Amino acid sequence: MLNEDLEIYGSCDLEKPKIPPRSRLYYLEPIGIGTPYVESLTSFLMRLANAHSLEVNTLVAREISSYLDRGYIQDNLSKGLSTLFNRGAALNSNGILAAQLCQSLEKLTFRKDLSLLTLLLFDKTFSSRKLLRKSKAWCSACCEQWRISGKTVYEPLLWTLESVKVCSEHLQPLKNICPHCDRSLPWLTGRSKVGYCSKCNRWLGSFLQNHHNQNESELSEYIWIAQSLGELISSIPLISSSVQSANISQAFNLIIDATCEGNIAAFAKIFGLPKNTVWMWCKGKSIPELRMILTVCYRLEISLLDFVTLKPQAFKSPQINPQRLSNTLLLNKRSSPKAFDYISTENYLQNVLNNLELPPLTMKEVAQKLKINQRTIYGYFPSLCKAISAKSRNYKKQQTAQRIQKCCQEVEQAVHDIYKSGEYPSEARVSKLISQPGYFRYKEVRNSLNRAMLNLGI
Ligand SMILES: [Zn+2]
Ligand SMILES: [Zn+2]
Repeated sequence: MLNEDLEIYGSCDLEKPKIPPRSRLYYLEPIGIGTPYVESLTSFLMRLANAHSLEVNTLVAREISSYLDRGYIQDNLSKGLSTLFNRGAALNSNGILAAQLCQSLEKLTFRKDLSLLTLLLFDKTFSSRKLLRKSKAWCSACCEQWRISGKTVYEPLLWTLESVKVCSEHLQPLKNICPHCDRSLPWLTGRSKVGYCSKCNRWLGSFLQNHHNQNESELSEYIWIAQSLGELISSIPLISSSVQSANISQAFNLIIDATCEGNIAAFAKIFGLPKNTVWMWCKGKSIPELRMILTVCYRLEISLLDFVTLKPQAFKSPQINPQRLSNTLLLNKRSSPKAFDYISTENYLQNVLNNLELPPLTMKEVAQKLKINQRTIYGYFPSLCKAISAKSRNYKKQQTAQRIQKCCQEVEQAVHDIYKSGEYPSEARVSKLISQPGYFRYKEVRNSLNRAMLNLGI
C-alpha cells in the first residue's frame, strides 16, 4: 500500500485543558441585591457557613481570620473571635472591619458584589456614630412569611440600621428581644443561624403582634424613615462610588440657601440643631450622623436618596412641613420611653458593684429597682451582672459562716451550763438554750457539741 492511500487524521491536542481557578468557598448568591431588602454581610456569612455545614466559629477561625487585622483576632482563637463577634454591627457598617471581612469573603468565594451588603459606599457620607444598632433587630412577620412560603430566611441590611424601627411591609415594630428567653441577641456569634435565637436556639418568626402604643403620626414617621432608607439601600448598586463627603456639605449648603437664604444660624434654629455643628457640615469639616440628615429630609419632605446624591429637583423649592417640625422622633429623647437605656443601666450596675453598703443588692433586687426584666439586663451586661451576683453571694456566705461560728460558741456555753447544773447535755436540751436550734444541720455546730462533750469527758 502506498503512503498516499492513507487517510490523514487531525492530530490530537495533548495539552492539558486550562481549568479556571476554583473558589475556596461556594459562590453563594446574596439575596435581594438592588432591593430595599438586600441581605447584610453578617447574614451572608451565616448562610455561607451553613452551606458548608460549618458553624460560623469554624468558618471564621479556619478560613477568614487570617485576612482580618490581628487586633480583632487574638492568638487565643476562642477568645479572639469573641472580640470580633462583639463588634458584629461594625461588620455591616462603613468602616475598616466591614471592608476587611468583605475583601476576605470576596477572595474566598470569587464574588465581586459583597460590598453591596454593607454600608461601605457611605464611608464618607455618614458618621458611623449611631449608624448601626448594637444588637439584633428583626421583623418576626417577615421571618415567618419566608419560612412558610419556603423562601430562604435571611437578615436584611435594613434591619441593622439604628434609625429603622418598624417593618414598612408589616407595619409593626422590629423586635429586639427574643420572645422565648427575653434576651437581646448579638448580630453574630460562633453558632448563629439566621432566624434563630443564638441564646436559646428557638425560632424568632411569628405572626403574633405585640401591642404597641405608637400613635398614628409616630408610626407614619417611622414608616417614612424605613422606606427612605430602603430606597437608599436599594440604590446602592446604581450609585457610583462618588458619594463623597463633599456631597453632604454641598447638599446642606443648597438646602440652607433654598430655605433660609443661606443663614446657617436660622436654619439650625428651625431644625433644633446646634449651630456650630451645622456650620461644620456646611464647610465639610465633619460628617453628620445619618439620623440628622433623615430629620432634615423628613421635615422638608425630600427623599434621602435625592439629598445624598444631589438630585437638583430636591433642592428647587423645599418646603418645611410645619406638622413634621413639631414631632421628630429621631432627635427627640422621649421618642421611645420603653427603649432600653443602655448607658444609665450600665452606670447603675457599675454603682451597685462599687457600692460598699451592706448587704449588697442581689440581681433580683437590682432588676426590681430598675423595673427591667432580670434576663434582659443579663443579656446586655452579662459580666457586670455576674459580678453583682457573686458579690451578694459571697456576702451571704460570709454572713452564714459568722452565724455558724456564733452558734458554735453558744453550743459550747450551753453544754457547759447544762453539765454544771447536773444534767446530761443532750442535743434537745442544748437546742433549747441556743438562739438558732436549726443550725444543728451544719456539721460545724454538731462537731462543736461533740467537742464540748469530749472536753468535759462525757
Ligand atoms: Zn416584616
Ligand atoms: Zn431566645
